[in-house]
Amino acid sequence: MSVRVRIAPSPTGNLHIGTARTAVFNWLFARHHGGQFILRVEDTDLERSRPEFTQNITEGLQWLGLQWDEGPFFQSDRMDLYKQNVQTLLDKGLAYRCYVTEAELNDLRASQEAQKLAPRYDNRHRDLTPEQEAAFQAEGREPVIRFKIDDHRNIVWKDMVRGTVSWNGSDLGGDMVIARRAPADQIGQPLYNFVVVVDDVDMGITHVIRGEDHVANTAKQLLLYEALGAKVPEFSHTPLILSPTGKKLSKRDGVTSISDFQKMGYVPVALANYMSLLGWTPTDSTQERFTLEEAAKEFDFERVNKAGAKFDWDKLNWLNSQYLHEMAAAELTDLLIPYWQAAGYEVDGESDRPWLEQIATLIGPSLERLDQVGEMCRYLFDPELDYTEDAIAHLQKDGVADVLKAVAAALPNAALTTVDEAKALIKDITKSTGAKKGLIMKSLRAGLTCALKGPDLVESWLLLHQKGLDTVRLEKAIALGQPQHGGD
Ligand code: GLU
Repeated sequence: MSVRVRIAPSPTGNLHIGTARTAVFNWLFARHHGGQFILRVEDTDLERSRPEFTQNITEGLQWLGLQWDEGPFFQSDRMDLYKQNVQTLLDKGLAYRCYVTEAELNDLRASQEAQKLAPRYDNRHRDLTPEQEAAFQAEGREPVIRFKIDDHRNIVWKDMVRGTVSWNGSDLGGDMVIARRAPADQIGQPLYNFVVVVDDVDMGITHVIRGEDHVANTAKQLLLYEALGAKVPEFSHTPLILSPTGKKLSKRDGVTSISDFQKMGYVPVALANYMSLLGWTPTDSTQERFTLEEAAKEFDFERVNKAGAKFDWDKLNWLNSQYLHEMAAAELTDLLIPYWQAAGYEVDGESDRPWLEQIATLIGPSLERLDQVGEMCRYLFDPELDYTEDAIAHLQKDGVADVLKAVAAALPNAALTTVDEAKALIKDITKSTGAKKGLIMKSLRAGLTCALKGPDLVESWLLLHQKGLDTVRLEKAIALGQPQHGGD
């Protein structure tokens, strides 16, 4: 089967998770069949389209690994083609100029509302005589161009996800506007449903894969294919992504654009993996981790659900952590440097590199998202870090300051580059102070890291020691541990 599919984002906002998931399904389908994946930017809404959104969309698709084979094509570059096709429909008598004014349309809507009827255009200018047209033009009216929709048509297609779908022509709102108002000797700007069909025909699209919110558009578009004498592609309407509570995912749910997920520290392979599971299940439904290339081998629409797919943060976080946990330290370090810098730490990617890679090795196994490292690593970077209350309470316990003083005294002459050396030092302190190992470890944890919980203590100490931060912390901790003399 020859396959040509497209993703057709409108650059009126950043790349949305819903569009990205539709792109994933298009890409998987194209790759499965050895076909072409085309990028078309639907920028006909001139007021709302912005180049920075186009950039966000193309960068987001690339970041996710959804490289396109052709494009990007911009609809704003293709107006002549659309207008020629509008002219074809006018010539065939399948479209006509309609002079109804906005005020008349408002009156029509109001009277339909009063009669509790669904709003629709009543096709009143479908059969104007040349004289009637001339009279409207003489009044200074500018027409739109409408495509005739037969109310008695039953429109049926076999959707690859939803099975047989059927619509009545009478439910499409009357003859549809395909070009905006313009002087009667011109063709105004062609509109969305029309240009999509012209493009899909011109680009030889074999399968239109898009969100379920386009089902009503498909009914209209099928009539346009017929009117243009074009071959009709297969259609596949993918389920919507729902919020965790089952409502339509909206801006109110917080993060919805791919660049936000990127900032939060999801890695592209995890996010793409998660998105492919939003509505699709592999044959082995227990298999949850795969790359896009792996998913493409078995992707088909038979295993795409009709029901909406609820967004599951826990699952996404789990997948992300799986990829982070097994990432090589060098790669993880590259990804973490911007997050450390964003947290305000002075990080020199070159001279600090070995130290940073050791940090990445230490914390990698407990990371769920990259943006957690700001807080998680504060104790390693920030000399001003405050001690937690429970750490202070511990430091003030009997015997703790003595342990820390012994460590501080031993430090200047201690070799402290390996875990074994650190363990040997701890053993010496146990001997010299007679304190229990548990107390020593907890005291070191509180004194060196400013908290009672955190990543591996000995590894952390070695990292702090490289920067001399252990000496600074021990001094502070000893001072905090001195008995507090009250003021009254
Ligand atoms: N531009 C439309 C959108 O962003 C997609 C249209 C289509 O896929 O046919 O929703």
